[in-house]
Amino acid sequence: MPARTAPHAHGQPIFGMRKTFISEVAPPPDLSGPAWWFGFHRNRLLLQQTDATFQVPCLERFEELGVSAGNRHYLGRYDGRACYAIDVLDASVPAHLDFQDLRQAHSGIDEDLFVLGGRAVQIVEWDRTHQYCGRCGTRNETKQDERAKRCPKCQLLSFPRLSPAIIVMVERDGKILLARSPHFPTKMYSVLAGFVEPGETIEECVAREIKEEVGITVDNIRYFASQPWPFPNSLMLGFTAEYAAGEIEVDGVEIAEAAWFSPDAMPAIPGRISISRRLIDYFLDTHG
Ligand SMILES: [Zn+2]
Repeated sequence: MPARTAPHAHGQPIFGMRKTFISEVAPPPDLSGPAWWFGFHRNRLLLQQTDATFQVPCLERFEELGVSAGNRHYLGRYDGRACYAIDVLDASVPAHLDFQDLRQAHSGIDEDLFVLGGRAVQIVEWDRTHQYCGRCGTRNETKQDERAKRCPKCQLLSFPRLSPAIIVMVERDGKILLARSPHFPTKMYSVLAGFVEPGETIEECVAREIKEEVGITVDNIRYFASQPWPFPNSLMLGFTAEYAAGEIEVDGVEIAEAAWFSPDAMPAIPGRISISRRLIDYFLDTHG
């Protein structure tokens, strides 16, 4: 991934690295010094206590931490320092170390390191679940020149899996469409979202998800921003859209309740970690 400055969608800053990250599969031979170690036991991030807070360990050798580790994966360079994803085998670690759910860690660690942690956990999980060929069961080989595994028998290639999903803020006469999933904490509402199906464009996906979940049609579908969402492997593609026709009719399965909300009567909404909140904030910002 090349260095990029944060672009803007509808005038809003969107997600992306603040400092330069260079994605690489193999470390340059002259790379030395402290590295960032993104260790995961299952999907929990290994953190090291520094002063009063827990941070992503940054040191020359992972072995210094005294933790039993499995496969490691070089990810690239962040601000000049090597980054590794590492599979931590043992849940019991020395007292100055701890594991945190990646979502929980978001509030305590640097935003860039959170994003890199999301990258790391997906590589570790992909490695864990692609040890054998999905077609013929032969043990896979790791490719040295790209992030992929290859079956030496039938040549099937396996890449890290990404599941694209849309997320959309629908507006009607100065009100925002928010819905509550049966899986949400009680009373929390958010914008609509859903996975892209094979064979459809993302714009078709936006229209289909809205129609399926709340029974209305929209127009003026516009791209907003994207966010990697490593829970477990989504890429969220954010859109805005305008109400066109129909009345709200929830499906009762994916959506328990849905309604139009005005800026001065908003329900409980998601936290700042996610693009759903950025979409809602964008609506609030543009409606006083
Ligand atoms: Zn095979």
